Amino acid sequence: MNRSPDGLPPLREVIAEHGLAPRKSLGQNFLFDLNLTARIARSAGKLEECDVLEIGPGPGGLTRALLMEGARRVLAIERDPRCLPALAEVAAHYPGRLEVIEGDALKVNPLEKLSAPIRIVANLPYNVGTELLIRWLTPAVWPPFWSSMTLMFQKEVAERIVARPGSKAYGRLSLLAQWRCDARMVFEVPPKAFTPPPKVTSAIVHLTSRPAPLYPARADLLERVVAAAFGQRRKMLRASLRALGGDAEALLEAAGITPTRRAETLDLGEFCALARALEAR
Ligand code: SAM
Repeated sequence: MNRSPDGLPPLREVIAEHGLAPRKSLGQNFLFDLNLTARIARSAGKLEECDVLEIGPGPGGLTRALLMEGARRVLAIERDPRCLPALAEVAAHYPGRLEVIEGDALKVNPLEKLSAPIRIVANLPYNVGTELLIRWLTPAVWPPFWSSMTLMFQKEVAERIVARPGSKAYGRLSLLAQWRCDARMVFEVPPKAFTPPPKVTSAIVHLTSRPAPLYPARADLLERVVAAAFGQRRKMLRASLRALGGDAEALLEAAGITPTRRAETLDLGEFCALARALEAR
């Protein structure tokens, strides 16, 4: 029988043997190329001393790369029970280093099973990817349980995460991510790398949690200001910030921001100044 460099069967054989025809409803676009999954695992940084949380291991392509690259432990949450026998074979190959929880990542709380430092690495199902990212970026306390996240998104979402002021992609997701993290795009992944190929290009984003947010602000107020400003992104702030109630021009003046500017020209420091002015009024 053919073997991959890790001594396990090639992923195409795994899929055939376990009848894992990809399901669109579960966002299943599998990666079969172990060179590519190794590259994703390596872009997460040093794994030897870390526990890795993986969402949606599927047939195990990225999981195997994480283990080959030396992750201390991988805890993987997979919703599709059809994948469990294939993942059990990977677990048997790496005794004590892979645990798989069958369930919905939006509902399972994996925290008690993980020890710091924790890295999140995932080729996320597109239907729940952004929701999971927002949860990981907005915990009740900061710093969060994870120290870094290395995640595959549709390129359009990845661009929004790393966007700078003045660009079309700049908005709520950019500010949410960059306030508390250093966020960078690592590399693009073309549709043909997946089975089946999705319609759009994907990209890997790497986020490292900052010890504290970049500028002081209350998270809930920053969120309100950003939502109001980008809710009407083409309008001047003196109009869009009326959604906050009260005197928008006075608020902008208190934050030292010209009222005729538009949301996409403000940097993170200026949005935090607005959140502080909102708190003080
Ligand atoms: N990691 C594999 C790879 O790279 O080839 C599969 C990635 S595929 C894009 C997404 C995986 O997430 C699928 O295996 C799918 O069954 C799983 N999934 C979808 N929704 C999920 C959810 N809510 N919770 C956990 N896993 C989910």
